[in-house]
Amino acid sequence: MTSTAPPTTDELRARAVTSLHSIGVTLPEGDDLPARTPLTGEHLFVLAAATDADADAAIAAARAAFLTWRTTPAPRRGELVRRLGELLREHKSDLADLVTIEAGKIRSEALGEVQEMIDICDFAVGLSRQLYGRTIASERPGHRLAETWHPLGVVGVISAFNFPAAVWSWNTAVALVCGDTVVWKPSELTPLTSLACDRLLARAAEEAGAPSEVHRLLLGDRAVGERLVDDPRIALVSATGSTRMGRAVGPRVAARFGRSLLELGGNNAAIVAPSADLDLAVPAIVFAAAGTAGQRCTTLRRLIVHRDIADTLIERLAAAYAKLPVGDPFDDTTLVGPLISAAALDAMHEAVTRVQAEGGEILAGGNRRLAGAAPAAAYIEPVLVRVAEQSDVVREETFAPILYVLTYDTLDEAIALHNGVPQGLSSSIFTRDQREAEIFLSAEGSDCGIANVNIGTSGAEIGGAFGGEKDTGGGRESGSDAWKAYMRSATNTVSYATELSLAQGVSFL
Ligand code: NAD
Repeated sequence: MTSTAPPTTDELRARAVTSLHSIGVTLPEGDDLPARTPLTGEHLFVLAAATDADADAAIAAARAAFLTWRTTPAPRRGELVRRLGELLREHKSDLADLVTIEAGKIRSEALGEVQEMIDICDFAVGLSRQLYGRTIASERPGHRLAETWHPLGVVGVISAFNFPAAVWSWNTAVALVCGDTVVWKPSELTPLTSLACDRLLARAAEEAGAPSEVHRLLLGDRAVGERLVDDPRIALVSATGSTRMGRAVGPRVAARFGRSLLELGGNNAAIVAPSADLDLAVPAIVFAAAGTAGQRCTTLRRLIVHRDIADTLIERLAAAYAKLPVGDPFDDTTLVGPLISAAALDAMHEAVTRVQAEGGEILAGGNRRLAGAAPAAAYIEPVLVRVAEQSDVVREETFAPILYVLTYDTLDEAIALHNGVPQGLSSSIFTRDQREAEIFLSAEGSDCGIANVNIGTSGAEIGGAFGGEKDTGGGRESGSDAWKAYMRSATNTVSYATELSLAQGVSFL
């Protein structure tokens, strides 16, 4: 397949300016934070990173705003989020352009990312009328026992480059209806997208009559993130990124008895059983493994295939991989855009070299593309590799499109391989055998936060809670009752009796 070359850096800069303009962003010009595009690997602008004084002022403003926002009725807080959702609908294309320019996503996935933001806004608006507590049966006559939920405080959101807008919205839409205020430290690789999100929320606040300080943006690298991690005015640190980042953040927040919500790396697998419908499985596997150029936390990285169907499936996958269009993500025919950086390409090459040295066999892909047209960019064909065992390199998350294929004979063996990695984010089984599917979903099956049947590991809907176990950090975000992480509960005992009655039958006086 030939690859379509990306637009020039000048053309991308002009396209970014058009989108930023339409959204109403003024760029904070400076000299210490480059905004670059992985499409060409070159700089678009140089911006200003937040200083310590900026961070302090942002946290103070968000804390002061919390004191009034927490008493604003939740359905009214929902009006702010509804307006944000409307602005996202209006600027869907502008924001998707920025996501493509900064994160390299193909157009349909960039639009999908903004759609996910709209969906979580709708969810949060509904939630603003459903922050239910409960009444609990009291053991004492004339007593009422209840659980109520209250706003928590300032939420510090730290986010990764690969979902530069959606992860912010999962946290922010829910935190705002819960009565919290937010300070956001986005990835240093995606400042333009975050400026656009921040501006849309500021416009929504103006139009909905909410205080603008309910949200503050701090651009910069990990040092700015560390300010949020260590500041006792930040009640919850919601951090999305690598397990390495989570290992640094989790203990620091815990040391000050803050709360953290960690959404870290994955090493997701799918089991393909002998009864699997391969017409369904093949496209699902290719999307999960090669989509977003393998740069989703839920990307399929390990395929555990029954020995009887391995050759057939591998042949079909290799044929599909050979046809994957790699290149300009703005081109409608492209399915695989660039990796985020040359460092990501190096990490991919290193993993492939290691696995080859262990006897791994490359079945498809692995060639660099567009090295002449865009030498500073990292376009590469997704790789399919057959491996004999789950070695250390297979057990690590390499944030690039490498799919390791392993084989199994019994379901017990497949589940042991599946769970035999440090991470626990997303998983699936392809089978038409209901018993196998139910075992996979049961307590003795997948140990992940997300377990699917006959659908790939990536592309979750916002209605369910999102997150994973083990080295993935244990956090849950987005739908279901993930909102409870953004609030504090209080247990209330109310006596309407005329005599004192003590719990557990204790008598006193
Ligand atoms: P990264 O860990 O390099 O950076 C993530 C964010 O953390 C950035 O904003 C960065 O500045 C900040 N950061 C890094 N070290 C920090 C520290 N010590 N203190 C405070 N902040 C710090 O991750 P990345 O390369 O941007 O993203 C890719 C990784 O994110 C992959 O491992 C992927 O699996 C993971 N990810 C997980 C989820 C999930 O929901 N589980 C979602 C998206 C991405």
